[in-house]
Amino acid sequence: MRMSNRYFIQLAAPVALVFAVLGWMGFLAPNVAFAGGAVGCIGVLFAAARLKGALLERAESDLAIEGSLREEFVRQSRLAESYEVILDAIPDPVLVFRRDRRIIHANRAVIELLGYDPIDSDLTAAIRNPDVVASVEDVLAGGGGITRTVEFTRGGNVEQYLLAQLVRLSSTRDIGPAAVLVIHDLTAIRRTMEMRADFVANVSHELRTPLSTIVGMVETLQGAAKDDPEARDKFLKIMEEQGYRMTRLVGDLLSLSRIQANEHARPTEIVQVRSILETAARMLESESQKNQTTISIEASEDLPEVVGEAEQILQVFQNLMHNAVKYGGEGSTVRVVPHIATSGTVSVSVLDQGDGIPAEHIPRLTERFYRVDKARSRAMGGTGLGLAIVKHILNRHRGGLSIESEVGVGSTFTVTLPVARRSKKRARIHRAM
Ligand code: ADP
Repeated sequence: MRMSNRYFIQLAAPVALVFAVLGWMGFLAPNVAFAGGAVGCIGVLFAAARLKGALLERAESDLAIEGSLREEFVRQSRLAESYEVILDAIPDPVLVFRRDRRIIHANRAVIELLGYDPIDSDLTAAIRNPDVVASVEDVLAGGGGITRTVEFTRGGNVEQYLLAQLVRLSSTRDIGPAAVLVIHDLTAIRRTMEMRADFVANVSHELRTPLSTIVGMVETLQGAAKDDPEARDKFLKIMEEQGYRMTRLVGDLLSLSRIQANEHARPTEIVQVRSILETAARMLESESQKNQTTISIEASEDLPEVVGEAEQILQVFQNLMHNAVKYGGEGSTVRVVPHIATSGTVSVSVLDQGDGIPAEHIPRLTERFYRVDKARSRAMGGTGLGLAIVKHILNRHRGGLSIESEVGVGSTFTVTLPVARRSKKRARIHRAM
């Protein structure tokens, strides 16, 4: 259409000119020249009008193309933005890289893992592990969909166990995304597995010692000491002690596993702290008499109630008071001091006058089987599980345990528990009356 307009003008304009010149030179009758010129001019005007229309049409379609390009650009930018948002929302580190290994996307978890943004850097500079590098090369050399999984460790303040999963994308472009690397942190799972293995080893060790003592003594009683009543009495006494030791150990292990099994379920009972403290002290009477220790409860009458399971809270204070009696030293006093905090909690401190605990041991005391002095703990009938039980019970109760100690002065174990709401209301009613 545009071409025909152009030809039309090219044709009509010279025709109009020829008619006009011939008319002017007198070769044509003026009316013929005029008519020819006029027809030519009309032709020119007509063609110009059509050309203008065509140009306008073209400009409009150019504008429409520009508009749709702009729309497409906006759409693509929004898409890229939402991809970034989605990638950032993934808790595991995700890296997208090109065929030349240049990183073109790295989510927030990657920045947290590496401590910097690796965009535009070489993947092998960001993850320097040789096994990962070999897998990256493998994946880049393969076709779309090929995957590789590799476990590796990453040093730092704390060693991390990581799992890298690589997926080759089907894109073959040089500058586009070629592969994706997702990293899973296996540190917590690995630690749990190690802890489980350590725990089994510890339990076996704790049981093997008394068992081999018992077996050895039974053999002696059947052989060399067969007719020795003095030795028999002595060995039977030791066997009884070892039997009780195993019973305590199995009892503590069962308690621990029961507590851990329902650690996520918050207790709902309302418990009187004061009566629990008194019961715990009463249950330790014979132990404290043996040690000539006095347990002094400085509980005020209006100690608030707490939310908890009475039996478990009793176990917490029994374990702490028992330790204070055991490690407090003969003839000492164990003080039990409650404090009511304004933040809706009640704290109870158990203070002893023992040898205290060196600072480096304090953070590990609640680990299962952790003891400052193994021989001393065993000699006192300890299982090494008392404080682990306390910690798990308090976790379940959304409570806390803090330990302060000064070598040569004594230790303070403070338990914090949330106060029951009902007791606050009751206290208010009480005051109003
Ligand atoms: P155990 O059965 O050995 O007493 P616990 O878990 O109750 O086990 O305590 C772990 C370790 O913490 C004890 O072996 C002991 O070394 C230390 N400990 C606990 N309570 C006290 C305390 N009141 N004074 C000194 N050391 C303590």
